[in-house]
Amino acid sequence: MNNAEFLRKLKNLPVMSSYDIPEALRDNSDVSTSKVNVRQITLLISSMTGFIILAIISGFLFSLTTPKTAIYSQSISHRQESTRTNPDQNKPLSFQKNSADSILGHFAYREAPMSELVGIYQNGQIKMRQAAAKKLQEMLIDAKTQGVNLVPISGFRTIAQQEALFFGIGAQRNQTPAQRAAVSAPPKYSEHHTGYALDIGDGSAPASNLTANFEKTTAFRWLENNAARYGFELSFPRNNLQGVNYEPWHWRFVGNPHSFETFYKRQKQNVQTLLKENFSKISLS
Ligand SMILES: [Zn+2]
Repeated sequence: MNNAEFLRKLKNLPVMSSYDIPEALRDNSDVSTSKVNVRQITLLISSMTGFIILAIISGFLFSLTTPKTAIYSQSISHRQESTRTNPDQNKPLSFQKNSADSILGHFAYREAPMSELVGIYQNGQIKMRQAAAKKLQEMLIDAKTQGVNLVPISGFRTIAQQEALFFGIGAQRNQTPAQRAAVSAPPKYSEHHTGYALDIGDGSAPASNLTANFEKTTAFRWLENNAARYGFELSFPRNNLQGVNYEPWHWRFVGNPHSFETFYKRQKQNVQTLLKENFSKISLS
């Protein structure tokens, strides 16, 4: 049969695919058909694998190239969550509000209620929240038995007291608010308002009180090695994310759920804010 004859025969044949043949009549042992099926399956598997690999790569690239969007949406969702969980919108110093509640690296804090405070030193003039005061007393006693003289210098402060400190000393030292904020929190934005923070000095080296030299004292070394045992930590270590000057004397209590939340919810927001600011700087330059 030559080509012309073959084509003529082919034209006369009714068009019929394997789907037109009832299943029971199909000859599945046909070698050529199974070869085609194997080829089709191989093609299908390889194209699916290719698609999956492509999806993984593009997903990875997308996650690398869009951090700003992710942070922004996180911040938005946090704000929405805060609105939901904080129905009392009249409280301006709620630490749950949002990351906009910060000024020159300091966060807004509510004044601890007087009923929560107890005297810790100087005939009760220096006060802290009860939970923090209890652990502080333990810490002072243990340090003393080891020959270390920890001296509380300042504990709870009202907003009015912080106002006098911030603006009074700022004027005295000819400092702008930004310069002052690097060394002291503005009123409403001090950890001292919470009743969980305190400044500590070394009774054996009072000249180092409230200076960076405090880090050279026995008291500071002892605190570095032991304070966490009592739930205390340094608020502003060197190169802290808040951009506040190093304050080796300023410690805060984070040893119970309320104190921990008070400080750590803000830290998370601060990291987000800093990342957001840095990304926008990069995209602007
Ligand atoms: Zn302080």
